Amino acid sequence: MKIGLLVIATNKYLQFLQPFISSADEWFCKNHEITYFIFSNEKVNIKSNRNIKIKKVEHKPWPWMTLGRYKIFHESFEELSKMDYLYYSDVDMRFCDFVGDEILSQRVATQHPGYFERRGTPETNPLSLACVRYDEKMQYFAGGFNGGSSEEYLKMAKCISNNIDIDMLNNIIAIWHDESHMNRYFIDNPPTKILSPSYCYGEGMKIPFRPKLISIDKNNAELHS
Ligand code: UDP
Repeated sequence: MKIGLLVIATNKYLQFLQPFISSADEWFCKNHEITYFIFSNEKVNIKSNRNIKIKKVEHKPWPWMTLGRYKIFHESFEELSKMDYLYYSDVDMRFCDFVGDEILSQRVATQHPGYFERRGTPETNPLSLACVRYDEKMQYFAGGFNGGSSEEYLKMAKCISNNIDIDMLNNIIAIWHDESHMNRYFIDNPPTKILSPSYCYGEGMKIPFRPKLISIDKNNAELHS
């Protein structure tokens, strides 16, 4: 299969890129043809023996680089749609165990390590298109790792990007940015595969899962300044 791994790394987040890619070289979908799609505003010089496509994006201040990720992917529709599957990972992550065919499915979501099988913290402002009503059942997914068939993933990217545009016109930014919109999307379009928090395991957390993809402890205040 042709699998695209999407990652955004602008400004200070570039420091995470090479270790992330090296860990993906070692553990991510070893038996498939992988292309790393790296979205950055800087000149990127990455060592890997896999295909790499560097895509130029403009850096915008927090929280745009996370909130705007689906617009960025939607804008690369033509190139990304050539892949069979697309997966997205935050760049401040490291693979630390084999990740393979178990993740291949149409719409793939990852249980949030802080709220697995729980409701979590969805947007509750009825004026936001990310809003989840109190009477709606949900479990909370992490924005840090998701994916699916390229067709389904790009459909999701288009929908979330449009919804965020509309929220912005109404001066609304959902509580957890793109993650809130993704959670709304997965209520309306349920995942066909739910991955455990092994795939978004917070560094230093004590949860009953074996880590496969670890989100690195970082100083958000410093990184977002
Ligand atoms: N990001 C980036 N540059 C920025 C801010 C964010 O490249 O200035 C990207 C990066 O891939 C990061 C992701 O957006 O992993 C999500 O941001 P962050 O990890 O800070 O969000 P959190 O998961 O901590 O809410």
